[in-house]
Amino acid sequence: MIFLKPPRTDLIFCLAPIEKEISMPEIIGLHHVTAIAADPQRNIDFYAGFLGLRLVKLTVNFDDPGAYHLYYGDGAGHPGTLITFFSWPDAPRGRQGNGQVAITGFTIPQDALGFWIDRLIEHHIPHENPTRRFDETFIAFKDPDGLMIELVAHPRSMEREGWQQGPIPAPQAIRGLHNVTIWQENSDKTSDLLTKTMGFKILERDNTVARYTATDGSPGTLVDVRANPGFWRGSVAVGTVHHVAYRTPDDEQQQSWHGILTDLDYQVSPIMDRQYFHSIYYREPGGVLFEIATDPPGFATDEPVNKLGTHLKLPPWLESERSTIQAILPPIRLPGAGDADAL
Ligand code: ZN
Repeated sequence: MIFLKPPRTDLIFCLAPIEKEISMPEIIGLHHVTAIAADPQRNIDFYAGFLGLRLVKLTVNFDDPGAYHLYYGDGAGHPGTLITFFSWPDAPRGRQGNGQVAITGFTIPQDALGFWIDRLIEHHIPHENPTRRFDETFIAFKDPDGLMIELVAHPRSMEREGWQQGPIPAPQAIRGLHNVTIWQENSDKTSDLLTKTMGFKILERDNTVARYTATDGSPGTLVDVRANPGFWRGSVAVGTVHHVAYRTPDDEQQQSWHGILTDLDYQVSPIMDRQYFHSIYYREPGGVLFEIATDPPGFATDEPVNKLGTHLKLPPWLESERSTIQAILPPIRLPGAGDADAL
């Protein structure tokens, strides 16, 4: 099992050289959070079944094709609504701590708090009482692998739609990512990277937590950095976040980010073709793996929107190995499917 292999050179997405002068590129919010799960069925049952997100892509980890990569989001899998999982059933349990994205928050409508508390109780999921922070009320709980999740009630939740055809009534459905909370021994260098290089602005402070926004403070643009001096360092494995990805509008701006970060001596990966977006990766000073991912091309590149997540999709370079890959992957039952639809 490999958590982050060096990039495969045959996966590198080549771009034509850009000759014109490029203006400062922008980050427009969170693109996705990727975490590690053990059992894929338990993961599907929780994120699609309990939380009511749409499974928008069923594929494999391109760097480890014997493992599922499960993507959940809104109806179309818009950037900013996505949480994804590498499923490694035999991997060890990780530990949440400093140097990690410790908590992933999703936006819910303000009047949906009662619905979600009832649902947590009904499903016997331990949770904390609603809590106030940054003028928002949130409910905290863990997924079956121990990943820390928050549902954050926000007045601007109505600016985004949830998955309309899932198990949650549309008025109460999750409206995409809200924020991530990074834990750091010392948050100064992370803050500097966000504000001096990546274009984030500080919004507020609440005790040891500083909140940054990529744009105007709206849900899906928020990064909270909590200083946890003396706390243990996290280890990335099952039940922890592997990386957080930020949105950039297009390939040209991503190329520009690559240059800027390289000039600042970050060890930036080559631009990788992730089939549904193009990505660069680098580690921020506190140790969290950051990714910058393009909005296009999106999830409807290899199956229509109304069929998203209903079949195992492989990138062209793995298609010839489909039968081998399918023999290795554990069988799963898709959301809303009978056993006959199991893969
Ligand atoms: Zn990613």
